[in-house]
Amino acid sequence: MPKLIEAQALRSQVASILIANGSAPAEAETVAANLVLANLSGHDSHGVGMLPRYVDAVLEGGLQPNAGVRVVLDTGTLLTLDGQRGYGQVVGEQAMALGMARATAHGSCIMTLAHAHHLGRIGHFAEMAVAQGLVALHFVNVLSRPVVAPWGGGDGRYGTNPCCIGVPLKGREPFVLDFATSRVAQGKMRVAYNEGRQVPPGYLIDAQGHPTTDPGVVVVPQGSSAGEPGGGLFGALMAFGEHKGYGLAVACELLGGALTGGGTWHRPADNARAVVNGMLTVLIDPARLGTQQRFDEEALAFVEWLRQSPAAPDGTGVMLAGEPEREARLERGETGIAIDDQTWAEIVQAGARVGVRVE
Ligand code: NAD
Repeated sequence: MPKLIEAQALRSQVASILIANGSAPAEAETVAANLVLANLSGHDSHGVGMLPRYVDAVLEGGLQPNAGVRVVLDTGTLLTLDGQRGYGQVVGEQAMALGMARATAHGSCIMTLAHAHHLGRIGHFAEMAVAQGLVALHFVNVLSRPVVAPWGGGDGRYGTNPCCIGVPLKGREPFVLDFATSRVAQGKMRVAYNEGRQVPPGYLIDAQGHPTTDPGVVVVPQGSSAGEPGGGLFGALMAFGEHKGYGLAVACELLGGALTGGGTWHRPADNARAVVNGMLTVLIDPARLGTQQRFDEEALAFVEWLRQSPAAPDGTGVMLAGEPEREARLERGETGIAIDDQTWAEIVQAGARVGVRVE
């Protein structure tokens, strides 16, 4: 039976572990709130299940508690930032606040953020922007064990490189498209593995490059090389959308990794627990672009047009990106958050490593 826990109780348990691992209370609250919001939004892959990895990353020195964003260059419309390997939930919010202020003042801002530790759910940052009427585009790379195979390739060469687009809709809930460019997020394979589930065909290849439905191939080292440097052989996730998703993932690496200066992945895998993100963000203020009225009218007309599509015979009807997350928040806010036994056991162990008892 999964553990069912209410959001506020979960936030305070997570925050107490973060504080014991060196975070100031305000940082711990921000990170805990972000992780629990990911669970509430239906993305358990980016929720509190990440905490054990964060604890390890701090203990290894790959994640720096209480580090803030450093401004490297600021011309108003161009903003170059360094996350200094601080918690992505914190440096990401700091970066967005700086970028949004400049987009509002100048009409747009192109912001790079290098060396952020795991930024979590990228949609969180788009939600910050659309709440102020700004359009937001995010291209992100992931410096961690390369877990996604290039289209046509037989092993993992890069990360799950997420892409996110937020568009405010006048008088309506915003459009927030936020997805990993892998067929599924790596964290969802961890959740499936922990729950003992197989996954649909087309998501994964094994360590020899053959198709498989076993999520374990990207979660635990495979075969006799498990003890070798680099953690042994792993399988890989497939790109979404075949060659097109693969192309978008490469764009995320080039923009989020190379253009930000944070770096791209081009080395063998290692066992480091840190997950470092680079993010290119483009912020646009429609009010300053001179198209605000047409933008509002045309965007709403299109969304209405989509909604008039009849539900497919075996479908649930048309939704807009951002809606599933908002629905999950309402539902899980009422019922509480279900956490599987394995994930909870890992959180309890992570607490024990820093001297905090959670139950
Ligand atoms: P997913 O496959 O669940 O897709 C989510 C997106 O699709 C959302 O925008 C959602 O609103 C939309 N959507 C879902 N169902 C829909 C429907 N029926 N109609 C219309 N739109 C629909 O998400 P994912 O690819 O598993 O990614 C999950 C999260 O992982 C994201 O928040 C992403 O940012 C995050 N992520 C982060 C990193 C990192 O390193 N920080 C890496 C990879 C992924």
